[in-house]
Amino acid sequence: MRDPVNFSAIHKICKLIVLLCFLHISVVFVFYVKSFDIGHAFIHKEPTFTRRNSTARPFPAGTNSVSTAEGLATTNHERNQGISSNKQLPVAASQQTIELGKCPETSPLLVGPLQVEFKTPVSLEQVMKDNVGLRPGGRYTPKDCVALQKVAIIIPFRNRDEHLKFWLHYLHPILQRQQLDYGIYVINQGGTQTFNRAKLLNVGYMEALKDYDYGCFVFSDVDIIPMDDRNTYKCFDQPRHLSVSMDKFGFKLPYWQYFGGVSAMSKEQFQKINGLPNSYWGWGGEDDDIYNRLSTKGMTISRASGTVGKCRMIRHNRDKKNEPNPQRFNRLAHTRDTMAKDGINSLTYTVVGKEQRPLYTYITVEVGEP
Ligand code: BGC
Repeated sequence: MRDPVNFSAIHKICKLIVLLCFLHISVVFVFYVKSFDIGHAFIHKEPTFTRRNSTARPFPAGTNSVSTAEGLATTNHERNQGISSNKQLPVAASQQTIELGKCPETSPLLVGPLQVEFKTPVSLEQVMKDNVGLRPGGRYTPKDCVALQKVAIIIPFRNRDEHLKFWLHYLHPILQRQQLDYGIYVINQGGTQTFNRAKLLNVGYMEALKDYDYGCFVFSDVDIIPMDDRNTYKCFDQPRHLSVSMDKFGFKLPYWQYFGGVSAMSKEQFQKINGLPNSYWGWGGEDDDIYNRLSTKGMTISRASGTVGKCRMIRHNRDKKNEPNPQRFNRLAHTRDTMAKDGINSLTYTVVGKEQRPLYTYITVEVGEP
């Protein structure tokens, strides 16, 4: 005779199985929720790079801590665009902050003497590929330290696209190795009137300050390239002359007071001399006037050595509408009398266009006529 079916035992086994299933599901659920929590917490606990207080704070209060170096760029770019960011990443929540220290006085990235030549053509596409860390407008901020200076580089310009390509090709990598927080401003003189280099530089100063709190201004001709990256494009206690020994002058200074080619002034130094003269139309004299202004205000010129200050100029024919200015000698004799009323305080101009191109900010401007 077969044993009668033990329903009570089967019932117990089934209950146990259901209980085990429930337990299993619960454990799986708890782990699922926990794994979600960990992922979420990870976002919050990711190390944040906090900018230490420094004399050269590139960011306004409230934006001094973000979660990645790339984030820094975005926030800063947005600020420059006048976009208020609501994408701010958690700051206070994070306990693990990595402080971003000041960049060293001498950049460890410098390599010294450089090969500079103008035979091999350069394309803007290639320059863009070589400089992927740039933001629109040719802006750059070091990723792993706080730059010591915020530098606007101003280039007076008209019809020199080929030279500009060489300039961008050579200068962007140099300026990045110099660990500068910089922006490039190409100030294009619109119209066909006589060229006015110093007035364009004044315009560059004014327009760059609308974008960012620059403290240093480098005024560079488009055709001059440094041959040594130790010649840092920054400001010093005294106005700095950067194109110290140019190939066109046999790698020597043409005269001691020479302040042409490439020079740098802090905002304070620039303001002390009322900026640059607006009244020099055509080639020559405006750089000597700037020298006169500086020396009138008791400043002296600072320079790198003749070796570090070597640079090359791209050979070219004289531009049309930039003939030597016959009035320059007379004007130069009166800098002391004219500088208080001819300068940044009397500057007038009309911006025709302002474009943030990938490698530089391009501003076309009407500056009038002689
Ligand atoms: C001019 C300057 C020029 C220098 C070097 C001087 O005679 O006045 O403007 O930079 O020569 O060429």
